[in-house]
Amino acid sequence: MAPTRAGPRDAARVGVRHVARRLATVGAVTDPDCLFCKIVAGDVPAEIVHTGERTVAFRDINPQAPLHVLVVPRDHEPNAAATAAADAATFAEIATTARAVAAAERYDDYRLVFNTGAGAQQTVFHTHCHVIAGRDLTWPPG
Ligand code: AMP
Ligand code: ZN
Repeated sequence: MAPTRAGPRDAARVGVRHVARRLATVGAVTDPDCLFCKIVAGDVPAEIVHTGERTVAFRDINPQAPLHVLVVPRDHEPNAAATAAADAATFAEIATTARAVAAAERYDDYRLVFNTGAGAQQTVFHTHCHVIAGRDLTWPPG
């Protein structure tokens, strides 16, 4: 189903302040079929480690390192470039949240990954930043 603009009824689900803020501008965007929209809304469980005005961070269900967290925008966009184009402040909050998540677990060094497109192994088409740390991170990546 195509992404839809959230109405006032969704306020309790995704946060009154957030919905009010977005409706005042262009409206919150959610996709009822999107896994990460459901996690943001609390409809699918996840181990949330950080919440912000524009982002939510939770542990990856299939971790590839001792620290493997996904930082996602509350608003549904299919990839990082789309989020950056739609709302630069949200893109900035993804980066600052990633640093906060790593710092909270005492990692100074970490890797941020935005898989973009199926050919780059993107499997969930809601923007997400992988925050990976706690093991040797070789270069080039696989
Ligand atoms: P990507 O392949 O870049 O699209 O990354 C999607 C990530 O989402 C993968 O690392 C998955 O392990 C992770 N993932 C899928 N379902 C869940 C879930 N229910 N909770 C947390 N992480 C998930
Ligand atoms: Zn979504």
